[in-house]
Amino acid sequence: MWQNSNNKKNNLLDKNIKLMAISAVVLIVLFLYTLYKSSAHIESGSYYFGIIFLLFLLAFAVFARIKQDKIQKFLNKNRKENENSFSSELEQAKQTSSNNEVPEASSIKAVTSNVSFNDVAGIKEVKAELEEIVDFLNKPSKYLKHGVKLPKGVLLVGPPGVGKTLIARAVAGEADVPFFYQSGASFVQIYVGMGAKKVRELFMQAKLNAPSIVFIDEIDAIGKKRDGKNNDERESTLNELLTQMDGFEGDSGVIVIAATNKIEVLDEALLRAGRFDRRVFVNLPNIEDRKKILELYLNKKHYEFNLDNLAQETSGFSSAALSTLINEALLNMIKRESKVVEQVDIDTAKTKIEFGKKQTLLLDEKQKEILAIYQASKAYITKTKVALFDEKVQTLDSIYPSYNELIENIKRYLCGSIAVEVIKNEKYAINSEDLKKAYEIAQKMKDDYKMVATPQNIIDEVSNSLRSIISQNVNEIQRLKELILKNEVILEDEI
Ligand code: ADP
Repeated sequence: MWQNSNNKKNNLLDKNIKLMAISAVVLIVLFLYTLYKSSAHIESGSYYFGIIFLLFLLAFAVFARIKQDKIQKFLNKNRKENENSFSSELEQAKQTSSNNEVPEASSIKAVTSNVSFNDVAGIKEVKAELEEIVDFLNKPSKYLKHGVKLPKGVLLVGPPGVGKTLIARAVAGEADVPFFYQSGASFVQIYVGMGAKKVRELFMQAKLNAPSIVFIDEIDAIGKKRDGKNNDERESTLNELLTQMDGFEGDSGVIVIAATNKIEVLDEALLRAGRFDRRVFVNLPNIEDRKKILELYLNKKHYEFNLDNLAQETSGFSSAALSTLINEALLNMIKRESKVVEQVDIDTAKTKIEFGKKQTLLLDEKQKEILAIYQASKAYITKTKVALFDEKVQTLDSIYPSYNELIENIKRYLCGSIAVEVIKNEKYAINSEDLKKAYEIAQKMKDDYKMVATPQNIIDEVSNSLRSIISQNVNEIQRLKELILKNEVILEDEI
């Protein structure tokens, strides 16, 4: 059964106090018995001194027992202060961890996270998913008494800068447990066995400090599909990670959270049950989220510009880019020697970001329309909720898919590109991942299931049928396009 480390410490204190009290009583009894039996003369000074010392010991034990809770709190506070000094080391840990340094015993340290869910704006659904884990860490008995185990691994999937690390830190902060940060790249070592050693060390530390959270950023650096090419070091590291994840029970109190922006490159073994069995998709913030993030960063600042407009204009910005935008605007405000953030500060900041940061996905009106058609047709064909920056496609997920289900999935992957082609009268290179998946299914239908003679035939057949469905429903797709351009999301009942 999972033992909370705080409980362990409480028990230890309890035991020590009891031991002290029992020793005092035993010594007093022995002392009195010796006196009673002894014929030797004991000087009255030594006698009183001995008995006073023992009574003092007994009184101290009783006092410590009464004040046990306070003493424990004091000890915990001291421990926390020590850990807090590590907090500022998170950034340092991030850097060390991505600098490919050879690990030393001391390089794996937990930090205490001071981030809470209040510091994470928007992404309501992601928070809701992770709140359960926080509750589990806070009140394990509530779940364990029903035999429910903690999920071992949670995989956060999403583009850079959307708050994957931040939310993992918030989980650790809310649950008040140690946070072990490692970047996947830090396990990739030159010498065979070094990465695996670091993985072992990380899990050992996490278990010693349980309940705790291990966060592996950019797990694709170690978790890539094993492609048969010789890379002993990476493979031994991945194998060690798999072994370690199998090696602890869901009630051990260690939760592994990993982040990636390329789930499709991960080795399937990592995604199997009992490893990263929970997956949470974190998308670029939608208009509502962006407003909340902007509000968070403008909290207690005086500003005189239209926040709704800014939220509207920043579609495609990651949360990190929004925070940079406000920071740049504030810098400009200071430069102007003003105390109010104005539109001019925002404009200057936007120009800086537009030219300075490649990773910020800034779409012009035309690009936004192409993306909107792509996503609107996905909503139309799949009849499910689709957001403007959703990267995933809702597919049918049967264990034994039928021919028609496989065809349906190919259709879902192809519909975006075909719709853009039909509506804009030109082909656009928009989402190669979706196309790749459609071709993969078609290839499997030939190689694995012997359902078709050639994959290309199946692709052509589905594409033609899609062309005709879309041509007949252009108006409907255009309506959905307008909707997604306005709200950045199409809900199921709007289709
Ligand atoms: P990722 O791990 O997805 O690449 P990070 O968690 O490192 O992204 O985010 C980088 C920074 O962006 C954070 O430190 C924070 O300042 C800001 N940020 C990201 N997401 C949010 C959010 N939802 N609310 C507030 N700030 C955010």
